[in-house]
Amino acid sequence: SLEQGPEGPETPIQVVLRVRPMSAAELRRGEQSALHCSGTRTLQVSPPGGGPDVAFRFGAVLDAARTQEDVFRACGVRRLGELALRGFSCTVFTFGQTGSGKTYTLTGPPPQGEGVPVPPNLAGIMQRTFAWLLDRVQHLSAPVTLRASYLEIYNEQVRDLLSVGSPRPLPVRWSKTRGFYVEQLRVVEFGSLGSLMELLQMGLSRRRSSAHTLNQASSRSHALLTLYISRQTSPSSPDLPAPQMPPGEPPVGGKLCFVDLAGSEKVAATGSRGELMLEANSINRSLLALGHCISLLLDPQRKQSHIPFRDSKLTKLLADSLGGRGVTLMVACVSPSAQCLPETLSTLRYASRAQ
Ligand code: ADP
Ligand code: MG
Repeated sequence: SLEQGPEGPETPIQVVLRVRPMSAAELRRGEQSALHCSGTRTLQVSPPGGGPDVAFRFGAVLDAARTQEDVFRACGVRRLGELALRGFSCTVFTFGQTGSGKTYTLTGPPPQGEGVPVPPNLAGIMQRTFAWLLDRVQHLSAPVTLRASYLEIYNEQVRDLLSVGSPRPLPVRWSKTRGFYVEQLRVVEFGSLGSLMELLQMGLSRRRSSAHTLNQASSRSHALLTLYISRQTSPSSPDLPAPQMPPGEPPVGGKLCFVDLAGSEKVAATGSRGELMLEANSINRSLLALGHCISLLLDPQRKQSHIPFRDSKLTKLLADSLGGRGVTLMVACVSPSAQCLPETLSTLRYASRAQ
């Protein structure tokens, strides 16, 4: 398991693959599974027309029988939390086509009604990490200040999911002391698990209510919830995401960011036009930019070279976690159905290249 790694990160990006169960609709249509797991790290893909299986290896492969708790443990998220408490910027993101289980993996199934909480056994990585962190912080001797922000990137525009009043698009800026940051983003200090859960619920319901027309807009936007962990007591400055620090110094506070990425499918295949096509382009642009940055970061010869974080809002906001002082966990999500195989293969290739 990734939980037992040595101190600090050995590779900047760890990749876990999760195969969700067949859905009721897939079973009703009589679809066959094209995937099977052999061992804990290898996924076998059977091409539909016969022919030899293709194998993919990841840090961990989690099959459809694995529970939310299994996934939380296998992903070693507590280790990322410990690193964040020590000042690192850590990120967990889910990648995959729409319907592959990204949101389920991070936050569990959609609520049965407004204000109805997710049953504890179905809570996702985010709620489990929140509970772990709040408990962990109580046992530290030095006081810790915890703050959170929650935003959505939609059509290359940043929207604050915690804003008071209706959200306006916010600019992404860069400064020497803070790196990339979102101007006027609401960053809320919290002291209890309950209040953090409320912030999560507020953002999740805002994401859902922004759904429009055919498909949920949530499948076409990236959502980033960031926890800011600072160990120094600072005067309350709600709009200051990172503590002030002299240039060149490591940041005093760590960050833990959870990213529910937009669906990775090629939207051209769904016949989108006009505005939808614009969305498709900006989704693909940021996912392409993310993949590009990751592959440059992984190339030992290019390590010192310029990484094009500026190519998208997403890569700007993940720059400190991807480059240098961070650890990133990617949970690639796939459907087992043979009908999804073309998209599944592109997810597997993207995820393989990231490790
Ligand atoms: P995505 O966010 O990638 O579009 P979702 O997380 O919304 O996909 O998952 C699609 C559907 O499948 C949802 O109804 C979700 O509750 C269900 N689902 C996803 N993963 C699992 C799982 N591991 N076990 C049970 N249901 C799941
Ligand atoms: Mg989703």
